[in-house]
Amino acid sequence: MANKNWKLETLAVQAGYTPENGGPRVCPIVQSTTYKYDDAQSVADLFDLKREGFFYTRLANPTVDCFEKKIAALEGGVAAVAMSAGQTANTLALLNIARAGDHVLSAATLYGGTTNLFTMTLKKMGIEVTLISPDATEEELQAAIRPNTKAVFGEVLANPALGVLDIEKFAKVAHANGLPLIVDNTFPTPILCRPFEFGADIVTHSTTKYIDGHATSVGGIVVEKGGFPWDNGKFPELVEPDESYHGLSYFKNFQPMPYSVKMRAQWIRDLGAIMPPFNAFMSMVGCETIHLRMERHSSNALALAQFLKHHPKVGWVNYPGLKDNPHYETAKKYLKACSGVLCFGVKGGVKAGETVMNNLKLAAIAVHVADLRTCVLHPASMTHRQLNEEQLKAAGVAPDLIRVSVGLENIQDIIEDFSQALALV
Ligand SMILES: *Cc1c(COP(=O)(O)O)cnc(C)c1O
Repeated sequence: MANKNWKLETLAVQAGYTPENGGPRVCPIVQSTTYKYDDAQSVADLFDLKREGFFYTRLANPTVDCFEKKIAALEGGVAAVAMSAGQTANTLALLNIARAGDHVLSAATLYGGTTNLFTMTLKKMGIEVTLISPDATEEELQAAIRPNTKAVFGEVLANPALGVLDIEKFAKVAHANGLPLIVDNTFPTPILCRPFEFGADIVTHSTTKYIDGHATSVGGIVVEKGGFPWDNGKFPELVEPDESYHGLSYFKNFQPMPYSVKMRAQWIRDLGAIMPPFNAFMSMVGCETIHLRMERHSSNALALAQFLKHHPKVGWVNYPGLKDNPHYETAKKYLKACSGVLCFGVKGGVKAGETVMNNLKLAAIAVHVADLRTCVLHPASMTHRQLNEEQLKAAGVAPDLIRVSVGLENIQDIIEDFSQALALV
């Protein structure tokens, strides 16, 4: 098991799996739906959540378990639940504590899929989400909280607006109202930001991005900090006996991780949303070099941002690591480096931007972000195309915005590619 004093780099390599004497050095892929037991009582105890173990891979799997433990260790949380996608992670993070008739307050600068989920799909399920500017004051945030609000949500480094969430401000208002702060930490990863240290209570990730890092496996994860006062009267489903689990109270019976146990016992059980073992294996192998990759992604992105900023054909560049960026100071407070994504607009607008995108040779046009190969995307016509003009503006997506996911290639080659494409405008 992970040593408490280990630093992030050591956790990335070592946490989650400890081989037994003579066991495989690398956590194996346990591609098995079920597990064999010698007596019936052992299985009955597993069903009663009286002992830990595996009985059916829809609920838990040894490979997925190792991956969950690695990410929980990296975030400094008590437990994690891995799922089929980042979308699942954000959906279930909320459904675990909010139901029809409830309300959620979220920062408006979100990934397009999350905006859709919050404003369309959750709405159909009877959960209303208010989107608020991340720059709202504490008073404005407080005014948006309702008696039926169950959570406050935000992206630590917004995709693709690249604003840095003032985690402490959001946590302060959430906690003053007895609510958890849930943050999507996909872009910074635990290497660049540990949101629990700033007051977040639940962290979600699309592990599809930097955690896997190699663009092989879609996945998501929800991490619980532990210690949240779920018994404050607002979350009876966590405290009162669960009839679908023999009258167990998650809060009373499953400290320090009642939220994660409820998530698995209800949502993962009922929806079949667990991460497949093969994806957990790939994501785990990827994650073992995340500390090295995030350093290089960040330095490459900063260098490309500086190059673009001084290019005569570039109208604007958004990267929180640039000194004149409005989020520079917030980034310095919350992030160790600014990760590998930057946005820019070409003078001449959407058409000129298209010329640049079409002529890039090393950087590919791909609906992806946050992996080791440099790629570009035009959110307004791609990931965010379901959003109307007003939603685009709230999400921080300008019509001419080109999002660059800066990879791990040699930075001179990356800069040369953008240079030759800009020359054709
Ligand atoms: C990609 C992404 C998601 C969705 O994750 P999937 O794994 O694609 O389902 C959620 N949040 C952020 C910030 C993302 O970048």
